[in-house]
Amino acid sequence: MTRHMLWTLLISLTHASTAFASPKVLKLPFQDDVRIVQGWHYNFDPKKSHQGIDFKKGRANEWLAFTITAAYEGQITCHPNGTYAGYGNVCVIRHSFQQQTFYTLYAHLESYAKNSGYVNTGDSIGQAGKTGAANGLVHLHFEVMNESPCMKSWCREDPYDIYDTVDQYPNISSNPGTMGAERWWADDPPLPPGAPPAPCGPNILWQVAGRMPEPEDVMVSAALGDKIHIFGGSRYLNHRLYDPADGSLHDLSLLPHSISNGAAISVTGTLYAFGDGMIFDRSAYAMTWTEATDSWVSHTLNPHPRRFPATSAANGKIYLMGGFNYEVEKATAFDIETLTWSVLTPIPPPELDLPTSVAYEGKIYVFSTATGEDLGSTSALMYDPNTDDWTTSLPPLPYYRYGSRAVVHGSSVLLLGGRENAETPTSSINVFDIKSGQWCTSPGALPEPMLLFAVEKLGNSIYIFGGARANRDSVDIWKGVIQ
Ligand SMILES: [Zn+2]
Repeated sequence: MTRHMLWTLLISLTHASTAFASPKVLKLPFQDDVRIVQGWHYNFDPKKSHQGIDFKKGRANEWLAFTITAAYEGQITCHPNGTYAGYGNVCVIRHSFQQQTFYTLYAHLESYAKNSGYVNTGDSIGQAGKTGAANGLVHLHFEVMNESPCMKSWCREDPYDIYDTVDQYPNISSNPGTMGAERWWADDPPLPPGAPPAPCGPNILWQVAGRMPEPEDVMVSAALGDKIHIFGGSRYLNHRLYDPADGSLHDLSLLPHSISNGAAISVTGTLYAFGDGMIFDRSAYAMTWTEATDSWVSHTLNPHPRRFPATSAANGKIYLMGGFNYEVEKATAFDIETLTWSVLTPIPPPELDLPTSVAYEGKIYVFSTATGEDLGSTSALMYDPNTDDWTTSLPPLPYYRYGSRAVVHGSSVLLLGGRENAETPTSSINVFDIKSGQWCTSPGALPEPMLLFAVEKLGNSIYIFGGARANRDSVDIWKGVIQ
């Protein structure tokens, strides 16, 4: 008899008195892309047991916050940190199913929504945290029990028997038998740890569609008609016209004021450029371009000029949201009718640092990609121009994406490139579906890793200019056709 079989026999005897029918009603206690980081494993030495499942969000060294939801309806009781050993802030839900009672437990919570009453399946019960004996790592410790509060090993059940093999946890025997996914869950199990997130969204096929005269770091762009205007970058006053039909670039009249790290956009046939106020005095003008004369007119100064604001248009106004290391909480709007500025409700923390935005059905979705310390931020916010109000409850970006750029395609936001850690640009694309509020990763990718590029979408084609690239000499203008 192998050691494994011996343990199995002993454990099934231990469990004999507690067996009851399979509820098969549990839903995964989260909506995000969250994975199992440690499975259930049992040992008669409690120090060698882990009688729950640890779930975490994020890649190898990331332990990101996520919202925890009720796996099934029932009466909830939450207890503050310190009540139950190492559980930290912990919630227990008492469930009834066909006259049987069982419990689910959610430990290490950062916060919980309420500490008594009834919750429905899928209701938010709190935020994943690292309270109690969580080794300082944000995760959810989840248990299924047939008695509560349960500090005895026999009253815990294995909610999954798929990852806690003897192979994966040498020297600790697993508890197979009647436990596991087939017994408890209405949902499919989460993807295995380490597997990439479920792909979603469109694929994109890339080709070189022109070349810049020299590598350009930061530029801004605006599509007007079927052509694309490119500005600034290291040549502060440059104004170039790109023609997708033949990949050609033409110089147009220089900007009257620098927009080096500013913004540009076209609205109802007019091209607007906005200075960042950083390089020269009074470089925070709003400017409009007249095609017939290839000339610029300067308008009033942005009352809060910023570098790298996210820029979108809705309801006759152009919205400049956040910035970079400088007045990142500021939001201003330029009225294209009156050519005047208004100051909007400040951005609630965490502020929008190095943000990127899209407009969709009259609302503006803004994604922060940095913090003041140059580390990644993952906040996603929605601004409603009608109420001048911010919504902070959007699910955060699945990964840090410093310097990534957004385009909208249907109801999906494609978040292109960026930097996932301190050094390495990425070519990956995250997709946020505005209607479902879900994030996932596109099956497609950028043709090369890059960040802080200028990007425009014309029909189903995405055009990328400049930006910081892994290959610093790259001058390729990329065209991606959304499939
Ligand atoms: Zn655990």
